[in-house]
Amino acid sequence: MNSVPTNNMDVKKQNRINTLRCLLKYDRISQPELAQKLNLSWPTVLQNVKELINLGLVHEVGAYKSTGGRKAKAYASIPDAKLAIGVDITKNHIGFTLVDLSGMVIRYTRKTRAFSSEENYFKNLGDLMNSFLKDDEFDRIIGVGISIPGIISDDGKKIIFSHALDIYDFSTEKFVEFISYPCLFINDANAAGFAEMWDKSDIDNLIYLSLSNTVGGAIIFSGKLFWGNNLRAGEFGHNTLVPNGKQCYCGKKGCLDAYISAKVLSEQADGNLAMFFEKLRCGNAEAEKVWDDYLKYLAIAINNLRMTFDCDIIAGGYVGAFLEEFARELKNYVAERNTFESNADFLKYCTFKLEASAVGAALMKIDSFLQEI
Ligand SMILES: [Zn+2]
Repeated sequence: MNSVPTNNMDVKKQNRINTLRCLLKYDRISQPELAQKLNLSWPTVLQNVKELINLGLVHEVGAYKSTGGRKAKAYASIPDAKLAIGVDITKNHIGFTLVDLSGMVIRYTRKTRAFSSEENYFKNLGDLMNSFLKDDEFDRIIGVGISIPGIISDDGKKIIFSHALDIYDFSTEKFVEFISYPCLFINDANAAGFAEMWDKSDIDNLIYLSLSNTVGGAIIFSGKLFWGNNLRAGEFGHNTLVPNGKQCYCGKKGCLDAYISAKVLSEQADGNLAMFFEKLRCGNAEAEKVWDDYLKYLAIAINNLRMTFDCDIIAGGYVGAFLEEFARELKNYVAERNTFESNADFLKYCTFKLEASAVGAALMKIDSFLQEI
């Protein structure tokens, strides 16, 4: 996620950003270790650290013992010097997370609130956010990332459409009317994909498949989200899986969404996904049949993504949180379809089991803050 510097000022700024990112990874680190990890000279590191101390983002935490000569000073970041709020708007809920500069989730909550385009809903959103924060946190908030189940315009000013919220060409200004911090908007699956990418600096390309009440995804290419020409990249839910198959909410038939959304499972348990998995735990034969069919369709979807993008694929969303425990057969089904290897080692399960979209939206805000220090 680092940009390539183009001139001296950019190089200095990038070095400072990299110094803070490095400090955020460790509890404490000495000046020589920092210089070595960043491949920078001692004086440059010292200068960067001084600037970061002045910004209140880093502090000195004593000195390391050495075998001879002067003791090396040790530094640590202050991750909670700044915080970002992530909000996940869905049809029936609002999720809130509070994330620090290191990406750690400090707190989250989920409230039942049916979406409405009336002013009262947005006022309630602002009130809920205020009550989510503790008194000493208000001044440390750098902004809010808002995840939306829909397509957001390039400039973030409009929700072009959201089937889930039933809004079209909807101004995002309404959402921020009762929020006193700068806000950014991001598609929910892209936000969740961004969260999964956050601390994986060794991965350049990644596909995130979001298995929530609708199926979406994110394409991360060279460390950045790939949006497509119409900002619809990663709408894997509407790949055709079965010609003239089951009805999809988009109006077409046979879309992936109709076979592998979380609803396919929750519909078997009065709309309660956790209850469906509880049935599986109890060995309910009907649930086992539904689950096995689900996994077979999911394996097709995953194999198609692997053949198209040739990179690791993370299965996430509401169902993703249960895969580790329940999807014993999934890797076998995927491996059977794999043309090039006899395994499915490229398939990973999501790290963020809860509120991934809200966390990702907050991390987008943290990332833009770190790019600007
Ligand atoms: Zn569809």
